[in-house]
Amino acid sequence: MTFMRQELIQDIRNAAGCKPTAGTLYKAINRAVRKQMAKLEPVVSKRKLYYISAEFLLGKMLTSNLIHLHALEDVKTLVGEYGWTWKEIQDIEQEPSLGNGGLGRLAACFLDSIAELNLCGDGIGLYYHFGLFEQRFLNHKQTELPNAWIDTVSWFDRVPVDFQVKLPRCTLQPVRYDMDVIGFDGKKNRLHLFDVESVEEGIVKEGIQFDKTDIRRNLTLFLYPDDSDEQGRLLRIYQQYFMVACGAHMILEEQKQLGHDLHRLYEHAVIQINDTHPSLIIPELIYQLMQEGIRMKEAVRIVEKTCAYTNHTILAEALETWPMSYLETVVPHLCGILQALDTAADQRCSAAGVALIDADNRMHMAHMDIHFGKSVNGVAALHTEILKQSELHAFYELYPKKFKNKTNGITFTRWLHACNTQLYTYLMELLHMDSWQDERLAELHAYAQDADVIAHLQAIKQEKKREWCTHIRNKQRVAINPNSIFDTQVKRLHEYKRQQMNALWIIYKLKEIRKGNLPKRPITCIFGAKAAPAYTIAKDIIHVLLCLQDIIEHDARVSPYLQVCFIENYNVSEAELIIPASDISEQISLASKEASGTGNMKFMLNGALTLGTRDGANVEIADLVEEDNIYIFGKSSEEVIAHYEKADYCSRDYYEQDALLQELVDYLIGEEMLATGDRKSLHRFYQELLNKDWFMTLLDTREYIACKEQMLKDYENRKLWGRKMLHNIACSSFFSSKRTIEDYDRDIWNLG
Ligand SMILES: *Cc1c(COP(=O)(O)O)cnc(C)c1O
Repeated sequence: MTFMRQELIQDIRNAAGCKPTAGTLYKAINRAVRKQMAKLEPVVSKRKLYYISAEFLLGKMLTSNLIHLHALEDVKTLVGEYGWTWKEIQDIEQEPSLGNGGLGRLAACFLDSIAELNLCGDGIGLYYHFGLFEQRFLNHKQTELPNAWIDTVSWFDRVPVDFQVKLPRCTLQPVRYDMDVIGFDGKKNRLHLFDVESVEEGIVKEGIQFDKTDIRRNLTLFLYPDDSDEQGRLLRIYQQYFMVACGAHMILEEQKQLGHDLHRLYEHAVIQINDTHPSLIIPELIYQLMQEGIRMKEAVRIVEKTCAYTNHTILAEALETWPMSYLETVVPHLCGILQALDTAADQRCSAAGVALIDADNRMHMAHMDIHFGKSVNGVAALHTEILKQSELHAFYELYPKKFKNKTNGITFTRWLHACNTQLYTYLMELLHMDSWQDERLAELHAYAQDADVIAHLQAIKQEKKREWCTHIRNKQRVAINPNSIFDTQVKRLHEYKRQQMNALWIIYKLKEIRKGNLPKRPITCIFGAKAAPAYTIAKDIIHVLLCLQDIIEHDARVSPYLQVCFIENYNVSEAELIIPASDISEQISLASKEASGTGNMKFMLNGALTLGTRDGANVEIADLVEEDNIYIFGKSSEEVIAHYEKADYCSRDYYEQDALLQELVDYLIGEEMLATGDRKSLHRFYQELLNKDWFMTLLDTREYIACKEQMLKDYENRKLWGRKMLHNIACSSFFSSKRTIEDYDRDIWNLG
């Protein structure tokens, strides 16, 4: 390692010259790191994992790679000698736009931990040229632009592929982009992302519009192209099919080259299907095995023992079903197999709820995964219970042994060491660690009564707050008070996550301040969220928040006490800056709707306290830290599920019976909001809240306000708050993705 580090530094010096620009220096470091990565040997084990996912929300790779090469401090020092700050160098790297939210970030954390644990596992996905859109705010609204993240300086290698994907109306030539994932002790795994040679960035016109029918040119342009019309839905299936056709081919070729008998593929390979986007790998693998001369019945048995499925949501709209007519259009060669699988499933159980193809001739992707995969896992204890007891109950009765829980985790390399080096370094020193060990965080409990330790943790928090204020001033030209309480909700915008409830609290606080009930300390409400381009209500919620930001900023009586800051284009890099700076972690989804959440874990690890419902992994956080160290409110998942079953939730009743709620909701279409924002959007959202409110905002708003007031009051007892911070950090090792991966390996993969 020492020699490698010296060579790395020397390579950077040679390439950088004497007065490099930040760009030249970044390029020199990237090249030198890649040279070292190229020398690493692949991890080997008895069985190999293929983690297939439509998303890999990687984040920037520079810092993380240097940590894995044990060279971060040396390179930082060198950068300092050249007169640049580490942030200036990091800012040069483009963040890959290959994911959307938690699911994609999980895939990236898993790649990291699989390699760290010296397990043999590669990722498979797509190389989207513009990925998820770039968000800009204009007139208090979200607009979307193509996110042109691909740079000539890159972590990916272009690899030719001697295989073609045949579609009914055209043949596609794939090309592969490989990225090394650094592991333990001189080893590495890889991420393989497939692209189409014929794709043309030039067909994108005006924002993110393009010809959705031109598959040869558009296939890998965007992640999740708009599926509000039939062309868009067909394009999504083309993307999914292209991904699995390339993936299956690569897996079989690799296994053949290793000399493995495809009849016993499952002894050498396991394919983890991340949500239903890659589900077509099941029929495609059967098809490709049949091309290799294996009979269908046996091919089905092989695939059943090779594939495993992870469920990420119980939201009805996210459980993919495709009309068979679409599949006939895109993958006619698989339709016979799909019919045969449907028949086989029907022979096992004839109940309508578990069919592959339903009475409306729609294919249920998750149903195929469960029948023809070896395992099904939820992503947090509560989520898995809900799957077993309600959403997938019929399947649970049929295959009780297939159901497993694997509570999500996060890689501490990125979410502590890289993004909060101050805290990481302090913990290493305090706990006398030579090398980092997640489990040893628990030893922090011993310092719960140590005023110096508490003060130190709080000083680090304050430093991260100041750093973020500088960042956001440079980025968005806003001045945030670093001495305010940072109250943060950053995650995809969705009604179930209830950013709208947070907006109602802001209205409450605004009114209180105007009445003269001033908070003890200023509060900054921080948001970061992208809304799906066709999700109107989500965009309306962004509009409400941006209007509130504007109104408060321009009210000199209010702004010294309350600020709202909406981070534009929230992504991994923004997360790495705001999470270590936050005091309050808003995890306020409607109980039963958030499968796990991983944002909640990142905040906890960085010493923020959770304000949340008993949902997803919040339940496990609460069990670990115990009730004095977390702020839980709202109706339970059982109560919520009962409301849905009885269809007895009526938001208008809550509104009419509570004068405060009425006042808050009415503010949305009051004079001030209408003078600031768009009448149509504000009225639409107001009507939605009053007449539908599918995710039951008003059910919990009262309790939310009360709980948040208590939290703000408790913040003033600085010693006590500091102890709660310490307690949260000390309990967080359970949420390391190393623990999650060990669970997967023990119970599903057995990589050996
Ligand atoms: C962790 C992360 C998420 C997931 O956040 P949740 O609060 O769990 O929904 C989404 N986006 C980014 C950029 C993240 O880093």
